[in-house]
Amino acid sequence: MKISHASSIDDSQEILNFNNQAVSWYAQNARSLPWRAMMGETANPYHVWLSEIMLQQTTVTAVIPYFEKFINLWPRVDGLAAADEAAVMDAWAGLGYYSRARNLHKCAKVVCDEYGGEFPQEEKLLLKLPGIGPYTAAAIMAIAFGQRAAVMDGNIERIFARYRHVEGFLPDIKPILKDYTQLYMLDDSVFDPSSLAQALMDIGATICQPKRARCTECPLSQGCVSYLDADLKPLDYPRKKVKERPKRYGVCFIVENDSQGYLIERRPKKGLFANMYGLPMHMEDDEAEMLKRFSGCEIKQNQFVEHIFTHFHLKLYVVKLGVGAFYDLGLFDNINTEWVSCAEIRDVSLPSLFSKVVKII
Ligand code: SF4
Repeated sequence: MKISHASSIDDSQEILNFNNQAVSWYAQNARSLPWRAMMGETANPYHVWLSEIMLQQTTVTAVIPYFEKFINLWPRVDGLAAADEAAVMDAWAGLGYYSRARNLHKCAKVVCDEYGGEFPQEEKLLLKLPGIGPYTAAAIMAIAFGQRAAVMDGNIERIFARYRHVEGFLPDIKPILKDYTQLYMLDDSVFDPSSLAQALMDIGATICQPKRARCTECPLSQGCVSYLDADLKPLDYPRKKVKERPKRYGVCFIVENDSQGYLIERRPKKGLFANMYGLPMHMEDDEAEMLKRFSGCEIKQNQFVEHIFTHFHLKLYVVKLGVGAFYDLGLFDNINTEWVSCAEIRDVSLPSLFSKVVKII
């Protein structure tokens, strides 16, 4: 039997059941996370905001040490606002998607300059802050301020795609998933928006996972169409179009001096890894062209690292050479450099791309 997501389920009773099951489960099974207030406690909006920005495209496990580092360095938003951008970028190094860190710093400044250090409690005002999009604004409204809000992250999208059996491909089906999120999370029966939002995040992270659906343990199984319909397989949803990223190529230089020092640079204030530490690097779109350009540098074809960015896939060849040969290339006259020893380089805050290269050193 096929059950359509447009079936004649009585929505008000169905939504009430959904809420009760999710929130009761959360009361017993909530994950303990350093930014999270337990049920009945008031969440700190600074912690909620900081964690939600860090969690964009990043796993909870990766975020926890960074969250703790930021809270130790800057316990309040005014401290973060007063910090140097370079210090914020250094603290963020390795977490990836670096525009988030720049926007985080800008946002802290706006919150302090325009709102006296308190996050505004209106979704439309939150949406005007740097780096805060619809998901983050809704998450802050629900979790920090206990307001009904349609929170839709990847976990919640997946739950609704399976729970209401939404055919079609992501991202085309996002508007349908958004409708379901609004239907279930803005309903009058939502008595604890913070717990409902966090319950769904936890169910998505621990039970209704991308490659595993533990339906027999799921609090939502009694209403889940993909589980109840024997002809459907929950793991088939949501369907995704495969995204092809363009490939780019680069050479990263390990420049060694006579005292076994290595050259690092503070990168320019604009562009890839802006204002962060890195190793000198040159990028090209064409691999053959790039290998030709550096043909005098003895590029070792087996020494490269691959790295996935949001908009492209990078294959980076690693070249080791002396100071004279490096400057003879004529590409790096104006870079902002420092020499560090092999031991010191491990302590430099580097983006993970360069950490992979340092392992080769
Ligand atoms: S019953 Fe299965 S498919 Fe449905 S929401 Fe729960 S884990 Fe996901």
